[in-house]
Amino acid sequence: MSFLKQINPFDSAMKQFDKAAQLLKLTESQIAMIKEPRRITEVNLPVRMSDGSIRIFKGFRVQHSVVRGPAKGGVRFHPGVTVDEVKALAFWMTYKCAVVGVPFGGGKGGVVVDPGTLTRSELENLSRRYFAEMSDLFGPDSDVPAPDVNTNPQIMSWMFDTYSMHKKQYLPAVITGKPLELGGSAGRTEATAQGMVFCVREATKHLNINLKKATIAIQGFGNAGSFAASLLSDDGAKIVAISDVSGAYYNSGGIDIKAALETCRKNKTWILTGLENNTKVKKMDDPMKLLELDVDILIPAALENQITEDNAPNVKAKIIAECANGPVTPEADDILDKKKVFLIPDILCNAGGVTVSYLEWVQNRMGYYWTKERVNEDLHHIMVRSFHEVLNTSQEHKVDMRIAAFLLAIDRVIKAAELRGLYA
Ligand code: NAD
Repeated sequence: MSFLKQINPFDSAMKQFDKAAQLLKLTESQIAMIKEPRRITEVNLPVRMSDGSIRIFKGFRVQHSVVRGPAKGGVRFHPGVTVDEVKALAFWMTYKCAVVGVPFGGGKGGVVVDPGTLTRSELENLSRRYFAEMSDLFGPDSDVPAPDVNTNPQIMSWMFDTYSMHKKQYLPAVITGKPLELGGSAGRTEATAQGMVFCVREATKHLNINLKKATIAIQGFGNAGSFAASLLSDDGAKIVAISDVSGAYYNSGGIDIKAALETCRKNKTWILTGLENNTKVKKMDDPMKLLELDVDILIPAALENQITEDNAPNVKAKIIAECANGPVTPEADDILDKKKVFLIPDILCNAGGVTVSYLEWVQNRMGYYWTKERVNEDLHHIMVRSFHEVLNTSQEHKVDMRIAAFLLAIDRVIKAAELRGLYA
């Protein structure tokens, strides 16, 4: 995405905060307590490569807030990771947990690496080294990581094992997004997409859109985007476009999502290369044009800063459901709001992931495991309640859904911070 304008996601996050803080009339002391991250850790990770050499990778962990509970947030492996990106993602986690009312603060981690260039054992060495270097930060009651872009249940398993070996105890609650065999929760893999679908269903009811006849474009076909496509096509919606790093694929009659999943399975990774040979899809000349298609619902499910002031005027969707974190910049928000696009903000829309992570952490601590039905029932209850709390706030204060979500969340964080007071 080198052609995209460089936009600092932390600056965007701070603008979102300032807008809501102004409406809440927060004092400077209140802002100082909850705006900036509490702790930023940067490490150089030496990793033994398969040819015997040692390579150094840069890693970060940011704990934005531990006011409402242990820091919570995924670890991203990506060549574009920067400390400001991790700071922004940690900030969004604090307010995401507060929007849906799960008892966590906000954290995020990242390693500057293209994992596609590593062998499996190099990836394992890097994952273990990252966790070992940060092991003083992590813990079931202090900071609980999870998967994010390019990390998965296998990586969570290596990280959990590293921690358990250090502590000489079986401590699955130190990390979520684990496989079922190691204390993962039923329903966690698809939770982010499932939570988004619960929000989209409420939004279409609110706007009188028939989801069964709706057309949808999805940017990103990884963990979040692929499950979003499957679940929404099960709901009867027509997925007309999907994309990933290999390009964007379009069929006005609807893409066969099962065939797309099969393509990824054959490619042994979340890559859609070859889909155009197996199904009736056309590869789009410019993948970014997916965001401007004339669809009912647009789902960004890849990375930050995809909809900016440059392309927001061309967006035609009636609903934007932010499965990714930070895909729309503050300048684009203003444009979309004027166009009356109904945007379900990331800190609400993709909170299904952290909600089921919370349920996983609860199950780990009890040592008792629930069925997928039970997990989905709780997820449904939490997402629908949160969606309507945000919608009501938005109508009451005449603000867009993003600002409404921040109003609710900031209020919850500041109340907790003030009740705790300052220790010393
Ligand atoms: P993933 O690594 O499984 O998938 C990312 C997808 O985005 C891949 O298909 C990749 O090819 C695609 N992609 C990358 N660059 C792209 C580009 N320029 N254009 C089109 N596609 C591109 O990651 P994920 O876990 O699905 O996360 C995706 C987004 O959802 C991230 O913003 C992440 O922070 C957010 N999110 C994920 C979870 C979760 O539980 N996985 C929870 C909350 C939020």
